[in-house]
Amino acid sequence: MLPTDFALQVRGVTKSFGANTVLRGIDLDVPRGKVVALIGPSGSGKTTMLRSLNGLEIPDAGSVTVGAGATSGLPALSVDFSTPVSKKARAEQISLLRDRSAMVFQQYNLFPHMTVLQNVIEGPVQVQKRPREEVIAEAEALLARVGLADKRDSYPFELSGGQQQRVGIVRALALKPQLLLFDEPTSSLDPELVDDVLAVIKELAEEGWTMVIVTHELAFARQMADEVVFMDGGVVVERGPASQVLRKPQEERTQAFVRRLL
Ligand code: ADP
Repeated sequence: MLPTDFALQVRGVTKSFGANTVLRGIDLDVPRGKVVALIGPSGSGKTTMLRSLNGLEIPDAGSVTVGAGATSGLPALSVDFSTPVSKKARAEQISLLRDRSAMVFQQYNLFPHMTVLQNVIEGPVQVQKRPREEVIAEAEALLARVGLADKRDSYPFELSGGQQQRVGIVRALALKPQLLLFDEPTSSLDPELVDDVLAVIKELAEEGWTMVIVTHELAFARQMADEVVFMDGGVVVERGPASQVLRKPQEERTQAFVRRLL
């Protein structure tokens, strides 16, 4: 049984793509309301780990447990990938897991043929079957919050990268997920657009959203992550408070990585 203040517990997750073993037994704990940053060299398995948290990748073994919802009253949900189940049962498990979190992608992944508002309301209305008028009102309030009220009827191609990513964040928030997952949310942006997006993410952290963020922005991770997890070669090499892992790393591999980037 999970303590109620845990948002996420991952145990022993492994994943291979053919002969390439990418995750070699990852454990991850995210307390409710906290921010965990996944850092590490390119190819170390960070994105695969993140995508495994909401079924965009299916682990070969291990378990992913999302804690009970604080406000939604949802019970904890645990998916054990080590126990074989039918294809249909696995698909149902994945679908339940996916409902608990929302992903913000590196390349925004907005629907190009839909307006900003349509992008934001699509999931809540079509998938969650929530009342359209209520969802529109919430979407408009969220867009105003990130400074995009006047872009409601624009199409993604009419927006800058930073604006598109803020829509990506609003689209995730509109789903009212228990967990927000960010996959290198600023690495496609021109440098002058990065800060706007980071500021929005920082505000969400201060509001108490539970977040897992894959990032190369170590200065940002240092400022806002409660815990930093350094991965290399599909394992967690070192984890701890941001102040420790980024300022006084214990492991040689972490030291070399941090020295190069900070
Ligand atoms: P990181 O996010 O740390 O850069 P990734 O999780 O993206 O690492 O990738 C880890 C390894 O998994 C890389 O070698 C990558 O080529 C491989 N990989 C990731 N996704 C796939 C996929 N869908 N099919 C095959 N190989 C993949």
